[in-house]
Order: sequence, then structure tokens, then C-alpha cells
Amino acid sequence: MINPSAADPSFNRRRFLGTVANASLGSALLAAASGCRTSTGGAAPARAGSTLPLIVSTWPFGKPANEKALQVLQAGGGRLDAIVDGISVTEHDLSVSSVGAGGDPNAEGVVSLDACIMDGPTHKCGSVAAVEGILPVIGLARAVMEKTRHVMLVGDGARRFALANGFKDTDLLTEAARRRWQEWKARQTGGQPASAPPDSHDTIAMVILGSDGQLAGGCSTSGLSYKLPGRVGDSPIIGSGLYVDNDVGAAGATGVGENILRFCGTFQVVELMRAGASPAEACAETIRRIQRKHPAGTDLAINFLAIDRRGRFGAAGTGDGFPYAVTYPGYSEVLKSVAVPARA
Ligand code: ASP
Repeated sequence: MINPSAADPSFNRRRFLGTVANASLGSALLAAASGCRTSTGGAAPARAGSTLPLIVSTWPFGKPANEKALQVLQAGGGRLDAIVDGISVTEHDLSVSSVGAGGDPNAEGVVSLDACIMDGPTHKCGSVAAVEGILPVIGLARAVMEKTRHVMLVGDGARRFALANGFKDTDLLTEAARRRWQEWKARQTGGQPASAPPDSHDTIAMVILGSDGQLAGGCSTSGLSYKLPGRVGDSPIIGSGLYVDNDVGAAGATGVGENILRFCGTFQVVELMRAGASPAEACAETIRRIQRKHPAGTDLAINFLAIDRRGRFGAAGTGDGFPYAVTYPGYSEVLKSVAVPARA
């Protein structure tokens, strides 16, 4: 049986010691400091019985999404049903200001969504970008995958495809988001857009290892707050915001999309796992590679999570790392990722 095991049982400590004294200990300490729960070593506790399916997703809002996905799988649903229903929880949660309804709009006050989905066994994927007034866009991405011969639809074409396929026109801009946008707009001077607050973006990226050993993943976001109309980040781009290789594992990303897009971030994570890295090590090494090439060096906000076919999972983020949700039968917690670089 495949077991979701410690976030990093085969962690290459020698290589990682330069930045993280002890990845597991680092995770545990950060988790304690941030109020995130973790068990020994940032890993899920060993437990008897079935430990699959395994569902891992970004940020604390990933936890209810994971739990929905688990429920779908346990009721006999497929892995893509689980991805769509799980991520839809976040897309419909009006308190989440970076995904779906309730998400922050672009510079013109319009909510513009990006999403993608990828299936391990078939290596099929579907993606939508800069879509307005449609929910859930993760379901729309699946429809693109299953009902067209294309991988990606954008903008008005994606919206018209949605309306022709049973999706309803939906007002995604909440009063709270409209107020935040108006305040931002009022701060603009001399035609120069004021920059958005630094933490005004996030994504749900979810990866699943089913009880049958098959992988899948999905990603959904409203992108950077007050972005230029038409801007698309990493999240709907296969190999940047999400990548699944059924022979190896799956990875998802969150953070400033431009800095993930330039490096095909999640493709790198999966390829590093293929070369033998554990999930957290692959995430951390991808970040270090980006930091080495990017002019901003370590001053970046990028995060990755990953699972492999063996049921191992892990995550790494810049700065202090980031919280991510891990769920399997009998277990559902928010853990803290490895931090790159680590703070001593
Ligand atoms: N990656 C997303 C984007 O750039 C935002 C985030 O995940 O923080 O659109």
C-alpha cells in the first residue's frame, strides 16, 4: 500500500543544510510560531489503516476544499470530480479575496479568473484565463479539457464557451471587494497605478493521489489584485502553476505568478522529483534555482507544493514559508512549509 508519509523521509539534508538547518524541525518550529498545526517533523502522523487518497493544497483555505475532495472520493467520485468540487468550495467562499467570487478585481474593477486542471493517467489538461462572470472556473477548465480539442481558452471566447455549456452568468464582485478596489483607485496619482498591497494575491492549487495510485491536480485564482486587464499569471499555465506526471508526481504553485511563469516552476518541481528529490526538496530546489537567476534574488514571494507517486508530500516557500493543507482519511491539518531561505 502507498502511504502518505512524512513530508520528507528522504530529505537530502546535506544539500539542504545550507538554507534549512533541519527541514522537519524548521517546519515544526515555524508551524508552532505561526499557529499552524503540525505533527513531528512537519509530517502527517503515522496511522493505521488506509492512508489514501491523499489531498494537498495551498493555504489554510485549502483545508475545507481538501475535505470536500476527500468526501467526493470516499463517496465513489473520480479524481477530477474531487478536484472540481474541492476547488469549487474555495471559488464560492466569499471570504477568500483571491479566488473565485469575492476575489479582488483588476485595475478596472472587473473580477477576472484563471484556472486549470490536469489528469495524471491521460496527461490531459484544460485551462481558462482572464474569464469574467463565470463560476466555477475550475469546472470550466475541465469542460475545455473534456469537450474541446483544445487545452486553453481565454477571455471572451472562454466566457462564450461557458455560457454555451450550461455555466451561468454570475456577478463575482462583492461589495467588500468593490470597496477595497475603490480605496486602491483613490490612492492612484498622476495616472500611475498605485501598487497593490504586497499580500493581495493567492491561489488554490490542489494535488491528489487517489487510492488507485493515480494523480490529478487543479488550480484556481483571481490573480494579482488590481492587475492590468488581460494579465494572466502562472496559475492557468500547465507547467507553471500546475503540473502532473503520472509516472512521478504532481506540483502546484502560489505566489507572484510572473516569477513562476518565467521558470516553468511546477514542471521543474516534477522533474526534480523524477531525478530523485523528495517533494519538499524538489520544491525548495526549484525556489533556489529561481532565486539564483532572478535579479530580486531571495526577495521573491513564490511557493510550491508537491506529492509523489509514493504518497510523500512536501512544500517550500520563500521568506518564512507558507501554510498548506494536507488531508487523508482520518487526518486534515494545515502544515507549514519549508522556508527558503530558512531563518536561523
Ligand atoms: N500565482 C497567482 C498569480 O500570479 C497569485 C498567487 O498565487 O499568489 O496570479
